[in-house]
Amino acid sequence: MRTPEQYRAGLAKMRPNLYIGGEKVGRDDPRILPGVNVMATTFEIAQDPRWKGVATATSSLSGHEINRWAHTPQHPFDLMQKQKMIRLGAQRVGGCIQRCMGHDAITSLSIGTKEIDDKYGTEYHRRFCDWLTWYQDKDYCAACAQTDMKGDRTKRPSEQVEPGQYVHIDEVTDKGIYVSGCKVCITMAAYADEILVLPTRAMMETDADWAVAFAIPGDDPGIKQVVRPVWLHERKEIEAPFCNFGVSDSMIIFDHTFVPKERVFMCREWEFGRRLAMLFADSHRHSYCGCKPAVSDVILGATLLAADANNISKVSHVREKMSAFALNSELAFAAGVAAAMYGEKTACGTFFPNTIFANVGRRLMGENIYHEYNMLTEIAGGLSVTMPFEEDFINPETKPYMDKYIVRNPKLSAEESHRIWRFVENVSASAMTSWYQIAGVHGGGSPIMETIALNIDFDYEARRKVARYLAGIDKELDQSKELTRQPTFGCNLMEPEEFGDA
Ligand SMILES: Cc1cc2nc3c(=O)[nH]c(=O)nc-3n(C[C@H](O)[C@H](O)[C@H](O)COP(=O)(O)OP(=O)(O)OC[C@H]3O[C@@H](n4cnc5c(N)ncnc54)[C@H](O)[C@@H]3O)c2cc1C
Repeated sequence: MRTPEQYRAGLAKMRPNLYIGGEKVGRDDPRILPGVNVMATTFEIAQDPRWKGVATATSSLSGHEINRWAHTPQHPFDLMQKQKMIRLGAQRVGGCIQRCMGHDAITSLSIGTKEIDDKYGTEYHRRFCDWLTWYQDKDYCAACAQTDMKGDRTKRPSEQVEPGQYVHIDEVTDKGIYVSGCKVCITMAAYADEILVLPTRAMMETDADWAVAFAIPGDDPGIKQVVRPVWLHERKEIEAPFCNFGVSDSMIIFDHTFVPKERVFMCREWEFGRRLAMLFADSHRHSYCGCKPAVSDVILGATLLAADANNISKVSHVREKMSAFALNSELAFAAGVAAAMYGEKTACGTFFPNTIFANVGRRLMGENIYHEYNMLTEIAGGLSVTMPFEEDFINPETKPYMDKYIVRNPKLSAEESHRIWRFVENVSASAMTSWYQIAGVHGGGSPIMETIALNIDFDYEARRKVARYLAGIDKELDQSKELTRQPTFGCNLMEPEEFGDA
């Protein structure tokens, strides 16, 4: 497995194809460094013996020890370890660990390619497994480019005035395919080795050219990435780990870009557009059941520090709000564990989380994201947006006043108080705050998509039957299979001793 230094050295060798603020830049541009630091952390964690079995896994393809981010889950325990890895890693970087999307794309392609092959006798699954074995052995990281620009939301891909609103196939040759179009909001693509391109929606036969999935190097000469980095205001003296991290999202432009055949995993099988899109989204919502509790942990941590600084930690309305944080994050985490326990073994061997539990866990956190920031703001007061700059805490003319008046709780020093309020500012009132709020609502699909996913899979009829029986309309009660189903854990897919201490 690669060390963080090897990952960074790999970036340095990549062809510059990033555009930021009107300039063409390489992967050494300081504006993407905060995001690179997040990605490097995922390599660092895998090297740490304390994280063995959590951040590492045994490849189902090669039998080698690999970074868990490159692993396709094989049983419920794998899914639970993934959730744990995400939460632990995300706490360390103060939020999004950014590698879930690539992992979820791998999961969805492993299942989707097998299903396409089973129907059409194609060879996508073999190609994908070859690519994945190579990817695991290289210990690469991947972004997932699913979201298309989408143009007019009321029109299908084939109905758009500009066909590139959705990435599509221009031409198919013996050697591969040529694609054009634009993907947007693609997190960490600027510092990913590979980009996995997936369809974003259900297709009809007229949309067949838009039904395409493939892998492409992040620095492929055929693509341009127009990148928007987000990072925190740099600190002058009071450095803190939280300030080292940030994120970048890319618009990825394909302009008659060649993709070799061996990297193409779907080519015009339009009936599978929806399936691949949903496999990614549902796997991603399971990942959220590890990530969003970690984001909540960070906001709660900031809230606790703000309460300490204001010396109101024991006040009843503060304690009430603390328990509201605990309720959200642990229910979402528990939904992820339930999704793992009640998941299913798919035909290709990949173990897939239960979609109901994954969706309700994600939805709970999405609905509460602004509420969590609101609780922090209520407890912190207005200083998070009105505090003078750090330089004014350094300038000898103002420093004595700053140091004297920043202290509200006599148990805290001036520096501790200043650090707390700077952290609260960073968490609750920075460019990163807005990123997390909007990611909380839209990441993994807009809220309506969770409603759609739930309405597809949730057994509403079973609840109607319960009510009909209780109301005396029906004489017998035919109870929902979902309530009588055994968790997969009981089906010998996972030996209890595998739980170990990890
Ligand atoms: C911080 C962040 C990081 C992200 N990272 C990634 C990533 O790494 N990879 C990736 O692929 N994507 C990523 N995304 C994209 C994310 O998945 C999308 O933002 C999400 O799916 C919503 O799509 P959209 O932004 O196009 O909004 P839309 O889908 O356009 O939604 C906007 C509104 O329009 C409504 N709407 C849309 N279509 C219709 C219709 N036909 N009829 C009626 N109403 C409609 C929606 O319900 C919603 O209310 C990221 C997003 C964010 C915010």
